[in-house]
Formats: sequence, C-alpha cells, structure tokens
Amino acid sequence: MKRPDVPLTELPFVRQFIRLCANGAAMGFHERNGGNLSYWLSPEDLALLPDLNCSGPPVPLEAEVSGMGGEYFLLTASGSFMRSVPLDPEKELCLIRLEQDARSYRVVWGLSEGGRPTSELESHLLNFSSRAGMPGRACRVMYHAHPAHVIALSFLLPLDEKTITKALWTSMIECPFLFPEGVGVVPAMIPGGAQIGTLTSELIRTHDAVLWAHHGLFCCGRSFDDAFGLMETIDKAAQIYLIVEGSSLKRVNRIEDSLLYEIAEASGGALNTRLI
Ligand SMILES: [Zn+2]
Repeated sequence: MKRPDVPLTELPFVRQFIRLCANGAAMGFHERNGGNLSYWLSPEDLALLPDLNCSGPPVPLEAEVSGMGGEYFLLTASGSFMRSVPLDPEKELCLIRLEQDARSYRVVWGLSEGGRPTSELESHLLNFSSRAGMPGRACRVMYHAHPAHVIALSFLLPLDEKTITKALWTSMIECPFLFPEGVGVVPAMIPGGAQIGTLTSELIRTHDAVLWAHHGLFCCGRSFDDAFGLMETIDKAAQIYLIVEGSSLKRVNRIEDSLLYEIAEASGGALNTRLI
C-alpha cells in the first residue's frame, strides 16, 4: 500500500543512505566531492514511495544495464559533497528509474537545483546488474570512497589481487572472515568512464570489494552497514599494515599462513586459499 503522507526523506532506506554519507565524511573518506553511493530499491521500499512524477525526457546511459529495466535507484548527485547530503538531501541526491530497455533513465526525485546522478552511474548500475543474476549474491548497496590508507597501499605494493589481499588478511585477523573472496584490483585508469565500470562489474561478481589503484575502493553489500563496514574494515587493515611496515621497531610476530589455512577450514571453505 502506498504511503504518500510520509516525506521521502523520512523513509527508512533514505535515512540510512543519508547516515552513511555523514559517517563516511566523518571518517575522512570523502575529501571535497570524492566518492559516491547508490542503493537499489527493494519491492518493500517501492511500496512506501509516494507517487512521483518523472521529470524530463529519458537520459541515455553509456552502457546497457541488462536485466535492470524498470528498477529504481537512489544515488548521490554528480559533484555532491558527502558531508552536505544531510543538509539538503533533495538537492544532493536523486532517485532514478531505469527505462524498460535499461539503456536510459528518468529522474523521479531529487536534483532540486539541477545536475545529474554521480559520474560513476554506469559503474554502480553495472555492478548491481552483475550481482543481481547470481543466486544469493544480489546487493542493495554500492559504495565508492577514497580511504587514504588503502590508496597508500596501492603505491607500495604490486597491484595484484594476491599481494594486496594477503597484506590485508594478515594485518587484522577478522579480515579473512569478512572478505574471504579477497579484494579485486583495477589498475590506475580514468574514472567515470565505461571502461572502469565494465572492469569493476566483472570483478564485483566474485568480490565484495574492488580496489581502484591510486584512487579508492568500491564496496558492495546487502545493507548499508555491510557496505560501510567493509569499507572501514579494509581501510583499518591497510592502516595497520602501514603502521607495522613503517615502524622502526622490529616485527616479532605475524599472522602465519598456517593460521589462514585454519581460518579457511573454520569458514567452511569460503576463504579463497589461492590467495594465501
Ligand atoms: Zn573516486
């Protein structure tokens, strides 16, 4: 049943979206207008939406987002400052509906002072599409941020999945449990285009987190807490790695491979042991 009497900004998923933006800014993940966030509305969310009018003609997408025609997404606006989202959500966010052919979209709410969705729109939508078709792997939240420690790591270590993942797994013992599939790695490339979007969407099929070298991190989750928690966990592990490796004290202890294999067994085979 529709509930047109509740303002859109008071709906639970919008409140959680705004909270994540504020928390990410408080963590220092979003200098200036860095980072972006998207949420794929569930059927339960759609039932709560007030009646909304589509404004303007369909806007073409750079990539076809297969299987997502007719779906609704809440996104940060292009150029939006995460820290400003709580101050004026209707200006800083937008709700879009994909056209049935999934080659274009219409804005149905937000962008009250104009503009367009995040420049990483195609990346976000392709990621949702990538995961949607996988049983038990569908995600509702895609979160891109610029956490400093992870970015620093991408300058210090070879840019391969095994090296990066193992540095993180062996920096904090809960990491192998929280991202057992490892971290995908995208080499340095121009953001905002179809190429980085396509590459990320391929990696996100098998990883909940993808590193964009010298740029930031992309995390997905079933909930806002899942996606944000993964972002802060990976950045904290990277911070610990940098503290330990940069210390003048001699390292005397480490998380050994034998413990990782024990964790692999304890996690029921979820851990990707090819990365140990
Ligand atoms: Zn970025």
